[in-house]
Amino acid sequence: MTYFKELSLPQELLENLSSLGFEQMTPIQQASLPSILEQKDIIAKAKTGSGKTLAFSLPLILNLKAKQQNPQALIIAPTRELCEQIAGELKRLARYKSDVKVITLYGGTSLTAQVASLEKGADILVGTPGRLLDHFSRETIELKAIKTLVLDEADRMLDMGFSEDILKIVSNLPKQRQSLLFSATYPENISTLSAKVLKNPVTIKLQEEEQPLAIEERAYKVENKDKALLSTLQSFQPDLALVFCNTKVKTNEVADMLHEKGFDVAILSGDLEQYERQEMLLQFSNGSLPVLVATDVASRGLDIDGIDIVINYDFPQKPETYTHRIGRTGRADAKGLAVSLCNDYEVRKIEEIRGSLNVEEITTLRPNKNFVIQGEVSTLSIDGGKKKKLRAGDILGTLCKDIGIDPKDIGKINVLETHSYVAINKNVIKKAFNGLKNGKIKKRKFRVWWL
Ligand code: ADP
Ligand code: MG
Repeated sequence: MTYFKELSLPQELLENLSSLGFEQMTPIQQASLPSILEQKDIIAKAKTGSGKTLAFSLPLILNLKAKQQNPQALIIAPTRELCEQIAGELKRLARYKSDVKVITLYGGTSLTAQVASLEKGADILVGTPGRLLDHFSRETIELKAIKTLVLDEADRMLDMGFSEDILKIVSNLPKQRQSLLFSATYPENISTLSAKVLKNPVTIKLQEEEQPLAIEERAYKVENKDKALLSTLQSFQPDLALVFCNTKVKTNEVADMLHEKGFDVAILSGDLEQYERQEMLLQFSNGSLPVLVATDVASRGLDIDGIDIVINYDFPQKPETYTHRIGRTGRADAKGLAVSLCNDYEVRKIEEIRGSLNVEEITTLRPNKNFVIQGEVSTLSIDGGKKKKLRAGDILGTLCKDIGIDPKDIGKINVLETHSYVAINKNVIKKAFNGLKNGKIKKRKFRVWWL
């Protein structure tokens, strides 16, 4: 079966699918939909972008009963972005049914607002483990009518340490239910999770050629790590560099050191508030602060293109961490470089963490001592985003037409829920800042910060 219309689906649903441009099933949909529609539990592995969301969303919407008091389906996903993405897909698919209510529940936004919308009733809950558990322990969600449970990106949730939270939530679900687990990879601990959550699951694994990561890995034996880090940056001269440390304290020290040497540095550690984290990441990805020093905890789920080099200032303590870290570079078919700076102790640990990795002398590098990495742009933050119906085009228009900034001096514009960020060439940023501060966007006044 390759077409949706070959499945026995209601005509309205098929029409909606085709209006969304979905006629032919993707391989994971072909492999999983028949079993899911038969109410079987499944565990499915398929790579990112293969259409897993629709595979679980479609049967779930099909099974919804109208006008129920309590939520009927629960989807657990690792991040707020993913929750929003899934909710969006669910709503599009459910267009043909009247009144399907989907609520997203994740941290970093007000609990009270979420409680208020929960009180109005919901059919489908999409949330992150932590926030769902919060609601559950406050008794602000009712799980007794859940018929379908979905764990999306289970590997990432395990990676982020959500295993216990997930199990706590699942232990409070009705035993009679369908459970679906989706994952891009199968780390070892996934079988423990699936054994506790799924009942006689059908296992679906899509055959796919393993693409070797285009990452060159190097390790250097070093005595002074600060000097070695500078040498590394000054030899490879990346545009965008990510430096990992094992502790928050080290992260701060290394960032300070680079900053003193004239590098434009962002920092990401568990100490930061959600909004600070977001602003750091934005400034890194838009090139305002092109060196990011981070701990592992803070960098979970980091998905930024164009990172030329990942540097292990501290060597990671587990193989998964090593793989996770170096996987931040070499994305989207670009070649990446991973460099580990190892003291004597760490050199001895390499074997255990990474198998054979040739250790070179740091003195083989040829650094240019005058080289620093600085952003050509800086970032302005505007206190309006999607919620205020602001679009990138509105900001661009104001900057170019009203303030007279040349479009070539304007970099990435990111419009988030409540704030927007725009990268502007440092040469004209003062003009842009004053223009936005004193002027209007879409005839409205906004507050502006120069980050
Ligand atoms: P995954 O979760 O496997 O990483 P997604 O579910 O996010 O992937 O799907 C990736 C993209 O493919 C989405 O934009 C989705 O709308 C689209 N897509 C899903 N199924 C189909 C289909 N049958 N035909 C065309 N596009 C599809
Ligand atoms: Mg997905």
